[in-house]
Amino acid sequence: MNALPTHPQAVHTTCPYCGVGCGILAAADPAGGVTISGDPAHPANFGRLCSKGSALAETLALDQRLLHPMMRRADGSLARVDWETALDAVASGLRTIIDRDGPGAVAFYLSGQLLTEDYYVANKLMKGFLGSADVDTNSRLCMASAVAGHRRAFGADTVPGVYRDIDEADLIVLVGSNAAWCHPVLYKRMMTAKAERGTKLVVVDPRRTATAENADLSLSIAPGMDTALFCGLLAHLADRRALDFAYIDRHTTGFVEALARAREIAVDVATTARATLLDKRDVARFFDLFRDTERVVTCFSQGVNQSAQGTDKVNAIINVHLATGRIGRPGMGPFSLTGQPNAMGGREVGGLANQLAAHMGFSLAEIDCVRRFWKAPRMAQREGRKAVDMFEAIERGSIKALWVMATNPAVTLPRANAMRAALRNLELFVISENTLSNDSVAAGAQVLLPAAAWGEKDGTVTNSERRISRQRAFLPPPGDAQPDWWIVSEVARRLGFADAFAYRGPADIFREHAALSTFENNGQRDFDIGALAALSDRAYDALDAVTWPARKGEPARETRFFAAGNFYTSDGRGRFVTPERPRPRLATSKEFPLRLNTGRVRDQWHTMTRTGLSPRLGSHSPEPFVEIHPDDAGAAKLVEGGFAKVTTPFGSAALKVSLHGGQQRGSIFAPIHWSDATAANARVGDLVAPANDPFSGQPESKATPARVEPIVFAYRGFALTRRPIRLPPETWHARVAVARGSGVLFATNEPPDVWQAITQRLLPADAELAEYTDASRGLTRMAALCGGRLEGVIFVGPAAAAQQWDVVRLLFESESLAERDRRILLSGRNGNGVAETGALVCACFGVGLAAIRDAIITGRAVSVADIGKTLRAGTNCGSCVPELRGIVERFARAG
Ligand code: SF4
Repeated sequence: MNALPTHPQAVHTTCPYCGVGCGILAAADPAGGVTISGDPAHPANFGRLCSKGSALAETLALDQRLLHPMMRRADGSLARVDWETALDAVASGLRTIIDRDGPGAVAFYLSGQLLTEDYYVANKLMKGFLGSADVDTNSRLCMASAVAGHRRAFGADTVPGVYRDIDEADLIVLVGSNAAWCHPVLYKRMMTAKAERGTKLVVVDPRRTATAENADLSLSIAPGMDTALFCGLLAHLADRRALDFAYIDRHTTGFVEALARAREIAVDVATTARATLLDKRDVARFFDLFRDTERVVTCFSQGVNQSAQGTDKVNAIINVHLATGRIGRPGMGPFSLTGQPNAMGGREVGGLANQLAAHMGFSLAEIDCVRRFWKAPRMAQREGRKAVDMFEAIERGSIKALWVMATNPAVTLPRANAMRAALRNLELFVISENTLSNDSVAAGAQVLLPAAAWGEKDGTVTNSERRISRQRAFLPPPGDAQPDWWIVSEVARRLGFADAFAYRGPADIFREHAALSTFENNGQRDFDIGALAALSDRAYDALDAVTWPARKGEPARETRFFAAGNFYTSDGRGRFVTPERPRPRLATSKEFPLRLNTGRVRDQWHTMTRTGLSPRLGSHSPEPFVEIHPDDAGAAKLVEGGFAKVTTPFGSAALKVSLHGGQQRGSIFAPIHWSDATAANARVGDLVAPANDPFSGQPESKATPARVEPIVFAYRGFALTRRPIRLPPETWHARVAVARGSGVLFATNEPPDVWQAITQRLLPADAELAEYTDASRGLTRMAALCGGRLEGVIFVGPAAAAQQWDVVRLLFESESLAERDRRILLSGRNGNGVAETGALVCACFGVGLAAIRDAIITGRAVSVADIGKTLRAGTNCGSCVPELRGIVERFARAG
């Protein structure tokens, strides 16, 4: 249970981050504060929240908000305009380009952050009224391979199981998923199953992540070899006569071919071990565990999806579940863990370019069905371009107008720098956003439309288990901000489609979406929420979280799919898929001997436009880094805490070095979160290969050939100021949220005397300056005080002894400085002589390394449980528990 108090007037809403879809209670008080706690009644989380969800109240400030419509002037600057002007410009720009070049010259790029109602309206406008299917979404980068795998095997994008299966499984296999960090509340549920029913956990991942710390078996597989592992498993189960032939015969086709292909790829334990570079005994143990356990759930996530062979990996997993009949029954089945809060809702409405709407595709019958329902004048006739293809069409100049909603493609796409440059080619570039600190805004957007943000907008989202939950407003939209559905509908009205977009609110849209899902369905499509098509406004407002299908006339219940077949294929049978032999699309070479794997850190989300505002979340991993095995680091002359230039055939980035024994040799890892708004030269998307999966169009984000080399900085330092400061060019830096101001950690080759001059310009002119300089040690430290309050601090010193900012940061964040702290401020210590609180470990309760270390060394804690009792660390979401275990071991040994 989350420890925060529940406000009596709390609004029931849903977290805007990951696909777990946790229910939240949010209460705004008259003084402007907001209290956030987990919703005990929500079936996705039963009151739990992770560090990101718990810190939502810290992300609601308006400092960086886009509050008014803006348009770019001829000189490149942005000017505030009214809604009429901005909407007219968008509509007339789209009309001009479509009339001249046809509908194929315009595109929408949407987001798994949009609500279903927003998504529905944008998709309808493009596919039914503008006549193009060039509407895709950032979900393409996240789970498109899962969608393609589902459609190949099941005939529909159906997640067969529900979260309850995780509670009821005896074996959970996590493939390509660092759930402890990326789906923490669901991971906690796995840990509960482990503690209460003895569920075994197997983790398959090239990196040994926090998730693996609690595993019964951790398989550090060779990058990209998941298909070989699951083909080997299928062959092994067949040899041991551990398949469900009754299920195979009655409900599926393609088994013989799939088994033959599996045997070609990995015929037994030994060949599987060779292909995957795993220990033979570990492979055998996994195979036996799988064979002997009926209730198995195989959860997979981005490590599987983000691959040029991602769809085959998904199908190799599904093949094993079909062959054992372990699907759609309690405690078993393949389970796609969705990255974003509403990727699933986007899939429902057809937000992907290769889906039409309501889980219908582009057959003539389906196009006609949707056309009649929408009374659409100009239906798209074929699939549109998927994200990477869409942006390459912009690069070539064949797409001339782009409308981006709630996402940041200038950071996240493969070859991000080239894509950012391509955006400048656009004749019309529109962004609906709620923040100005977005690299895509800076990439030359001509019309900026202020969208309502989480807490201000109303609608629905669908999580990984097909559960539709309401997001409800508890704050008024600031400035001129409006919901996305309203913005799109206003443009549609200006384009002459007023009747089809005459929505009074999200309830109108939801009813239409639900009605389309059941229109001429007759059980032929999995997605059917006809029971919700006639909800009154009041019933929509009060809607409890509900899983689909929710068919009219059927009792509301959690449904599992395919235990008795009934697939959504032409003959009702599930399909075994014969995967291609796994091999990396791009080979390593002498020039690029490593493989770059990308992913997420525990306390940040996407490009940090929201989580980057929380001081608590900024404390865990404040700087962009590259994780590397100590042997590879040694060979490249990289040291812990130093800096590396990471180069791929597509771009380069400068990242801090983190040595990690859990990183495979030959493979490096870098997180995706930092942008030009938050760091210097750390946009990892720019390094990624645009090598796409042939079925899903999802890019290979996990295995780009790369090399590393040291970057040497002579000095490192930090600045804490009340307003963000601009640093000299060539200064490597990372911006970090701090309370009541702005923090920046930097590395530089400018000597301290240059910094003295720079510092005097950066700190307030009317402040009382305190200064400490030690030329022999290369140190300069300056602080500016106004009326007893610290207005700014800059510390610069030799890179070999990085300046600790923990204590100075706490002093900066306090309202005023005690005399004792003021006197010794430039020593970097507080009044108690403490210089270092250490990195934040538990973000939920703000517990740092130093406090934990102290508890262990003084004997107050000898276990993770003791730390929980003494300091509360690890007792909320639990995502820091693996880290706590490592700290206990380290300091207990040292003691
Ligand atoms: S696990 Fe965390 S980020 Fe994901 S929905 Fe729950 S609170 Fe939000």
